[in-house]
Amino acid sequence: MEQLGFEGMPRRLYSCTPTRLSTWLDCPRRYRMSYLDRPVPPKGPPWAHNSVGASVHNALAGWWRLPLSRRTPQAAGSLVTTGWISEGFANDEQSARYRDWARSLVEEYAAGLDPADEPVGVERTVATRTDKIAVSGRIDRLDARPRADAEGTELIVVDYKTGRHLLSVDDARSSLALALYALAASRALRKECKRVELHHLPSGQVLAWEHTPESLQRHLRRAEDIAEECADADERMRAPLPREKYDEVFPPQPGPACGWCDYLRNCPEGQRAAGAPRRPWDALAEL
Ligand code: SF4
Repeated sequence: MEQLGFEGMPRRLYSCTPTRLSTWLDCPRRYRMSYLDRPVPPKGPPWAHNSVGASVHNALAGWWRLPLSRRTPQAAGSLVTTGWISEGFANDEQSARYRDWARSLVEEYAAGLDPADEPVGVERTVATRTDKIAVSGRIDRLDARPRADAEGTELIVVDYKTGRHLLSVDDARSSLALALYALAASRALRKECKRVELHHLPSGQVLAWEHTPESLQRHLRRAEDIAEECADADERMRAPLPREKYDEVFPPQPGPACGWCDYLRNCPEGQRAAGAPRRPWDALAEL
């Protein structure tokens, strides 16, 4: 559907991911640099904590793709080792220490799984749309479990976490991404999906939240509201927008988190707010 530009005419359906929406909320300038600027501005170096996260996610996804007879905890650990991403570490020794740590995390986690309990989806892309947005994203794992209150099964959205910070149930409840995944999974598979879970591997915690139809709709409306702001900004950028007006439409949101922004080198306000420069391995968990 094309944007026709007249009052009352249909607006272009805004295609997005939950990450795109949250990037806009966090910092419109970062949103511009991530999604609109061409050529894409140079990013900072890769982060070691992202390497840990990606290695763990890849190993857990790969584990479910093994034949059932090979889905042992040790096999999960081996997948970490063979697929290890070593970018962002201070040196080989640090990389090896974190690889071994990640390996043990994944082995412990896999030991708590039933290898025969096949998920409905692993790294499954789901999408849904309203009359305003088309949203898509990739779910780490989609489970089908027996319903507590009725016959049959329901879908559960599982999201793996490997960061150093402890999480709370509130993180699961307030996650726009998880709520949108639940809605999209439910519509795609025509099955109830209201429970979302964060599985924090370093602590072994599972933070779960049961949405209601109303809370899922609230998240969806919120996504539409954010998307409307994004669509307006995108449109102004396409107009095209003179460079001197960039900050009017895409204002920077400087704060302490700027130290972790991939575009910090292109952002003087962020550099002033970030404080001491972060090294690529500074966000690794303490071992
Ligand atoms: S450094 Fe901070 S203000 Fe600048 S783009 Fe990144 S998040 Fe936004």
